Amino acid sequence: MGGWKNYYTPGTVEEAIAVLRDYDGRARVIGGGTDLLVETRRGLRRPYEAMVDASRIAGLDTITQTEDSIVIGCGVTHTEIVNDVRIIRHGQCLAESCSVIGGPQVRNVGTLAGNVAHALPAGDGTIGLLALGGEVEIAGTSGRRWIPARDTFIGPGKSVIDRHREVLTRLRFEPTGSGEGSAFHRVMRPQGLCLPIISMAARLTVDGGTITAASISMGPVGPVPWFAEPAAEVLIGGPANQEQFEKAVAIVLANVTLRTSKYRATEEYRSAMIRTYLPLILASAAERAGAQL
Ligand SMILES: Cc1cc2nc3c(=O)[nH]c(=O)nc-3n(C[C@H](O)[C@H](O)[C@H](O)COP(=O)(O)OP(=O)(O)OC[C@H]3O[C@@H](n4cnc5c(N)ncnc54)[C@H](O)[C@@H]3O)c2cc1C
Repeated sequence: MGGWKNYYTPGTVEEAIAVLRDYDGRARVIGGGTDLLVETRRGLRRPYEAMVDASRIAGLDTITQTEDSIVIGCGVTHTEIVNDVRIIRHGQCLAESCSVIGGPQVRNVGTLAGNVAHALPAGDGTIGLLALGGEVEIAGTSGRRWIPARDTFIGPGKSVIDRHREVLTRLRFEPTGSGEGSAFHRVMRPQGLCLPIISMAARLTVDGGTITAASISMGPVGPVPWFAEPAAEVLIGGPANQEQFEKAVAIVLANVTLRTSKYRATEEYRSAMIRTYLPLILASAAERAGAQL
């Protein structure tokens, strides 16, 4: 193939870690391959001595629900997330964000784990997971650890996950319950290059018409996915209504760094998209939380 010499399909996490350890940095973890294979075939990456396929590890190809988490194995594809009734009900922004990734062929093999591990500032599934407060489990030679997904991003394509030695094994988030809702929207160029202009997601908790918790994630607005924390803080304690959403948008626009990109859009256009769509996303999340708007 040119991109690797040996291809491994370990059945357990321990086997995967053992193979990675044996190759001592010369092997690479692969999920659906929809990013990695494109990059290796384009010659953007040096050939690896081995690929270690994380998508066929036993037990990590399923979505499970515990009392306080929805847990997604690293082998779970975007299509499986989009069709999962628990995620549609209790993590709607994640289902929405995965539903816009590529076309059906990409979604049928691409994984959420690969989207997060790839560490792009505007991975769609990533933006959805972040608004939900998602966490990831990383397995390596020294064991397994759960960390907030937001702490994995270092820069464009750069992750704290050592993809030559570690496997992102599972992702999880606290399901939205009564009084909680979430929503995602992406603005793309209508034709030409398939690059997002802006992707945004929000999770809101509403109690008796008052917002009691909020989280807003977006990208690409910098080297890593961005949390609009000051805007979320402005929402908390206020009413779930249009005026309050407009206040949050003003705070976002005052804090966000938007650049003009010839491949994406001008700074002005990207600001206009935030001004247009963020109130709609917040309204949608609030309605799903049961607010009467
Ligand atoms: C035509 C096309 C359209 C696309 N459209 C979109 C889009 O609209 N939105 C979007 O966000 N993305 C898009 N993508 C990118 C890609 O499909 C997604 O990022 C996908 O989620 C990547 O998942 P994967 O399983 O294929 O990852 P892979 O390609 O297998 O891997 C990606 C990276 O993550 C690492 N990795 C994968 N799994 C693990 C793991 N379990 N543990 C540790 N490291 C791991 C790999 O080493 C690699 O660095 C598109 C790709 C194509 C080819």
